[in-house]
Amino acid sequence: MSENIFYTKAAKYWANVPATINGVLGGYEHISGIDIKGSKAFLNDILSLKNAPGTELALDCGAGIGRIAQYLLIPVFDKVDLVEQEKRFLSVAKRRIGELHERLGSLYNIGLQHFTPKKKYDVIWCQWVLGHLNDIDLIAFLVRCKKALNTNGVIVVKENITASEEIEYDDEDSSVARPYKLMQLIFKEANLELIKESVQDGFPDDIYKVYLFALVPNDLDKKAFVLAS
Ligand code: SAH
Repeated sequence: MSENIFYTKAAKYWANVPATINGVLGGYEHISGIDIKGSKAFLNDILSLKNAPGTELALDCGAGIGRIAQYLLIPVFDKVDLVEQEKRFLSVAKRRIGELHERLGSLYNIGLQHFTPKKKYDVIWCQWVLGHLNDIDLIAFLVRCKKALNTNGVIVVKENITASEEIEYDDEDSSVARPYKLMQLIFKEANLELIKESVQDGFPDDIYKVYLFALVPNDLDKKAFVLAS
């Protein structure tokens, strides 16, 4: 399949999905609570690290209708920016969160494959969206995110991971689920170091295993920085 079709087919799929939690979770609205609970525990652990990130600004990538921003990030960060390619979802996110919270920051209506963060973020949260990028675009996106991290900033990736060693393509929403080893390879290519990982518990058996990864710039990057400065 050409890359173009991979991306346009996904955009078409999301254009026809209701702007609701059930819509963005593909009919699994009932797991949203447990998902947020698992994410909260993971985020709290990160914020308790010796070199913990700050809590000024977070970015929610592939934000949908702002489910994660609303229930996970806004209670913790002073401001939360969203990036999401389906415009309708952003309008709903604004409606859902905007009036209630001063904490909603900039909303970027663009695909992650084209997006370059313009601010410095303490936490960049990517969940259930990276399967919509091909491997090359994903590595490049992670590198751009890495450059947009504040001091002690962390990228969190929370994604479906295949039980097989193979990439599995979903023809309905035009996304892939990747095996664990490939995710590690992608992080390595992006010069990211895995500082914490966990598996979401309490999800139903009929869905993919969902992993949480916390990533920071690796030593190679730090060395390059010292050499350059
Ligand atoms: N992360 C949110 C939404 C998950 S649904 C949550 O967990 O609630 C996946 C979202 O990714 C949809 O909102 C879809 O429009 C968005 N998306 C799909 N492809 C994308 C791309 N290339 N760039 C940015 N967003 C994308």
